Amino acid sequence: MLQAHVQQSCTLSITALLAVTLGITLVETPPGYAGPTTPSAPLASSRVPPDHLSHYSDLAVEWLQQYLRIDTTNPPGNELQAANFFKKILDNEGIENRVFEYQPGRADFWARIPHTGTSSKRPIVLLNHMDVVTSDASHWRVPPFSGQMLDGSIYGRGAQDMKNEGIAQLVVMVALKRETVALDRDVIFLAVSDEEADGSGSDWMIANHQDLLENAEFLINEGGENLQQDGKVRYIGVDVGEKIPYWLHVVAHGRPGHGSRPIPDSAPNRLVRALDRILAYRTPYKLLPVVEESLREMAPYETPERAKKFRNLRQALRDPAFQQQVDHDESLNFLVRNTISLTMMGGSEQTNVIPAEAWASLDVRLLPGEDGQRFLETIRRVVNDPEVSVEPVPGRFREANYSPTNTALYEAIRQVSGQYFRDVPVVPRLTSGYTENQRYRPLGIDAYGFTPYTATDAEGSSEHGNDERIRVEEVRRGPRILYDVVMAVAGAQ
Ligand SMILES: [Zn+2]
Repeated sequence: MLQAHVQQSCTLSITALLAVTLGITLVETPPGYAGPTTPSAPLASSRVPPDHLSHYSDLAVEWLQQYLRIDTTNPPGNELQAANFFKKILDNEGIENRVFEYQPGRADFWARIPHTGTSSKRPIVLLNHMDVVTSDASHWRVPPFSGQMLDGSIYGRGAQDMKNEGIAQLVVMVALKRETVALDRDVIFLAVSDEEADGSGSDWMIANHQDLLENAEFLINEGGENLQQDGKVRYIGVDVGEKIPYWLHVVAHGRPGHGSRPIPDSAPNRLVRALDRILAYRTPYKLLPVVEESLREMAPYETPERAKKFRNLRQALRDPAFQQQVDHDESLNFLVRNTISLTMMGGSEQTNVIPAEAWASLDVRLLPGEDGQRFLETIRRVVNDPEVSVEPVPGRFREANYSPTNTALYEAIRQVSGQYFRDVPVVPRLTSGYTENQRYRPLGIDAYGFTPYTATDAEGSSEHGNDERIRVEEVRRGPRILYDVVMAVAGAQ
């Protein structure tokens, strides 16, 4: 059930409530929005006057356009400008906030709406990053930092990743303040720098101001995918965990010589044999509960034969024919095992020179709970050649982690999504990519990748691509969905 809060001062008659609900439906009904389906458990936003809701949507559009015009391409980032943009807005609202310029031009931004009343639960953090990846204006319909509206969409680098979500989070902060709702958790807004490169913003915050996270219980961040196809939302995908990169460098050694006189045990030959053994090695299946749950949820949308396998994956994986399918299915294979991709190779600089050394790079991705050192030892045993070394690429290895689905926040996402998108599955996902959730979970925070926007395949792939854009109707609705999720978990009961 939603833990929506009814304001003490607000007494609504059934008629008034109906009028409000109808008003909302008339004012803010984007295509595909079915409206709340459970009248007995109204969404928190249904208690917000329709003219306010409409105004928040207007603000979301206006602020997103302004935000997209701030060039925070990383490198160099220059996120301080974005932090000051947030600061100006939240200062005007009287919301407590702080800017931390941790390097010249680079900053983290923190703001808080405190809980009301005497007792409280642990806070929820709304996390976003202010930096964006590079863009090549010559391949765009409009300049990447124009924030221009075209054919019903707003264009700009960051429109999907993730200035859009930053604005939804900002509007939620403003709405919580203006609507003077009762909260039993602090709601913390955290905008960080440098996510697209080294994550120095989150690292700095955690190292220097973990106190401002106040032992938070929950965190909502980028990630997640709500796919829209042919005007219909197919699923609400919530990222609950990510795999972790564990890159390996393989180097083979041998006697150098002239290419005209082959050496059977040359470095390149040894390397090729070692790589052949590595690629032939099938990493064992390891089935995480979250993956089982994810595929079970998706089963109804698969072919009958595949659905049967998805409903009992553990058993299905004992079937050699299905194993074959999994091994060749890129979207399935990475979910059930550690993976190895051969990505780089090198040897001699010249065709007629047999080099003393030949090398290769492997992009290894480990599942949550896996031990990098043990994996490394396994690969060394597979290679089984004293003249071939396998070493991890220097850098800090983080153990992959994930958050469970039986939490109040996950339940809030499930409930609220169910009311906005009827009969659409809410699916927990393990992603092959990386998000900063990895950095926050070790602090005891359950962190999820959730977006309040839906996107088509084409819109989704404009992230890091050309013509990054978001439909205006999504910009208008997203903050309201996020408001309902936050209120469902933080609104006073
Ligand atoms: Zn991002």
